[in-house]
Amino acid sequence: MASKTKKPSKTKEITPVGKAKITATTDENDDGLDLVEQEQETRTVTEEQIDEPTIEDLPGVGPATAEKLREAGFDELLAIAVMTSGALSDAAELGDAVASKIIQSAKKMANIGGFLSGGQLLERRREVMKLKSQVESLDALLGGGFETQALIEVYGAFGSGKTQIAHQLAVNCTLPVDQGGFDGDVFYIDTEDTFRPERIMQMSRGLDLDPDEVLERIHVARAYNSDHQMLLIDEIKRMSKGMNVKLIVVDSLTGHFRAEYIGRGMLADRQQKLNRHLKDLKQIADINNALILVTNQVHSKPDAMWGDPTKPVGGHILAHASTFRLYLRKAKGGRRIVRLVDSPNLPEGECVMEVIEDGLRD
Ligand code: ADP
Ligand code: MG
Repeated sequence: MASKTKKPSKTKEITPVGKAKITATTDENDDGLDLVEQEQETRTVTEEQIDEPTIEDLPGVGPATAEKLREAGFDELLAIAVMTSGALSDAAELGDAVASKIIQSAKKMANIGGFLSGGQLLERRREVMKLKSQVESLDALLGGGFETQALIEVYGAFGSGKTQIAHQLAVNCTLPVDQGGFDGDVFYIDTEDTFRPERIMQMSRGLDLDPDEVLERIHVARAYNSDHQMLLIDEIKRMSKGMNVKLIVVDSLTGHFRAEYIGRGMLADRQQKLNRHLKDLKQIADINNALILVTNQVHSKPDAMWGDPTKPVGGHILAHASTFRLYLRKAKGGRRIVRLVDSPNLPEGECVMEVIEDGLRD
């Protein structure tokens, strides 16, 4: 991956796209999620793929056909390439001949992905950097810190410290590499209006950093609903050119999705959208050798019928997309227990940390 030239960046507010609408949270039932499976497909993404052809680039697809395809959920070439003409013509209400032609073209243009040798993969793994949380036991639990090219999910009940971790990593990301940071820029998508510059300033002082310099490198946008949340990813892609983007936070990843898509009838739609959102996030992580940190809630009803209160929401889609999952819970005396639940190459384990004014500490 070509190293990005660093230039001083200004704090810019990302303009909200579309209508701002806050949807009220309603009763939840996340259990059915696991019934709906949209397998996450992991692909190695290269720089060129950012300008991937879209369905509008298919020969013979004008705006009207494109709209039909999108309405039927076919917004990616790969999704079309794997269809049969009968199924596509039914789903998108197209003639058989048209559907067949579209599929043939999509097969030629879609980026199917490819195989890499073990050696090439090892080469990519060598680029992985680890962001220190400054909590020694937590960094040890993660094998040295929070990895780039990974999506790390932090889940736990309200008040368990998810947002504190997000703030701390945002601050730490700006630290020089020899101090466990990435000397990097941060994009922070705040869906619950809990980002606090004041907290960033406290944590910066806790590390003897100039709070104003740290704030300059953290770019925050409030997401008003799930569509807006997804659009902000495009905005990150646009804004991040020429920046050294090393951390993207989505706090919370699932809140809007959960509030807007209620009931089993909407699960498939919700999971499909969430899946796309996660793929977009992972693409940015791959391209920039960056770390994605997302927060997630747990099922709130302590009832066997409606879900285990220690289980994260988001179903299998999120479970598969996360490289590491950390489960946070409160313990006595303001301490927090962090449990590493899922990792491709590390044992499960726990550590204890504290949240103090200066930030997270052992
Ligand atoms: P979550 O995002 O999981 O809902 P938070 O990360 O917002 O929870 O954690 C909130 C908790 O963090 C507070 O209840 C408090 O215990 C702790 N906290 C927040 N700010 C400070 C601070 N300045 N000093 C000490 N503890 C703090
Ligand atoms: Mg929070």
